[in-house]
Parts: sequence; structure tokens; C-alpha cells
Amino acid sequence: MLTDAPPRKTSREGFMESDRIRALGLPQNGRLLTVAKSVESAMKAGKSADVRRACAEFLAATSDFYRVPRPGIRVLAARPLRVREHWTTELFGDYNPRTMLIRVWMRTAVRRKVTSFGTFLSTLCHEFCHHLDYQKFGFRDSWHTRGFYERTAALYHDARGTPPKRLFWVAVPGGCWRIDWPRTNRSA
Ligand SMILES: [Zn+2]
Repeated sequence: MLTDAPPRKTSREGFMESDRIRALGLPQNGRLLTVAKSVESAMKAGKSADVRRACAEFLAATSDFYRVPRPGIRVLAARPLRVREHWTTELFGDYNPRTMLIRVWMRTAVRRKVTSFGTFLSTLCHEFCHHLDYQKFGFRDSWHTRGFYERTAALYHDARGTPPKRLFWVAVPGGCWRIDWPRTNRSA
């Protein structure tokens, strides 16, 4: 995981704020764990319509908790070959801030390997955190800052019922940061 480099002047303030916000309030009532488990069983059964329904339930639970509009969700069998402009694209999902649509895919483009549940859920949390950046925090853009990754990780751990980890960061040239995994794992 590598953060984005700080942008030039105009959006720098939002970027710095996103970087500073390391904590995220969490439901902590087992609700996300329950809906995440239904995503997992739907994935095992392998029907994308069921996976979509479970993801929509997950996003309804998170959106209601953070009091933001519910984003749309589309579950694709495989990663689209062409990725549109204005979408924030990851390896396993993307988010369009204009239409508030999250897309996640169950297979990687090249090897058609099924995405593991952990990766899939973490992608869903990641894309939802992009949604939060616009809808809850009011940022004009959604950057991958240290704060963004920490908020995403907090949400993911709540949804998996695993203890949150403190993340340690190392500076890399160009104003970016990467996670120091050995140190992070040692402290867990
Ligand atoms: Zn992203």
C-alpha cells in the first residue's frame, strides 16, 4: 500500500485533512460482521446476484451508520478491460463519485482467479471509504492518504470482527508513504 503524492496547491488542504483523520467511528455492534458473513456465504455459493444483494445490505448498514446516501453497487464477474475516466480504479473495484456507484469484481482480469473473500471485503470497504470522503467529509477529491488507509482498515476490521492494527508508515521519495508491514505486524 502506497499513498498518493500530495497534490499541488488547490486541493492540498483537503489532502492534508484526509491524511490527518486517522480514526473512524464504527458500529462495533456486530452488525457489519453479520452482513459481511452473508457476503462470504454468497461468494462461496458463487451466484453474483446473491453477492450483489449481500453487498447492498452491507452498504446499507454502513451508509445508515454514517448517515450518507447509499451508494449503488454492481458486482461484475470479471474486471472490465476498459476502465472509464473519472473512476477511481483499484485492482478489484472502483467508485464513481458522480453517480455514487461502486463496482467490485469477483475475478481478476488476467487469470480469472476468484478473488478471496478477504480481498473482496477489503475492496468493498475501500470503495465505500471513497464514498465517505465525498459524502461525509466533503472532500473535493478522494486521495489515498495515510488517513484514508487507516479509516479503511478500521472499517474492515470491524466488519471481520478482527482487532484493529496500528499501522506504521515509512516515508518514500516524492512525499508518499508506505506501510511498514514488519513493524505493523510486530505490534499487533
Ligand atoms: Zn482507491
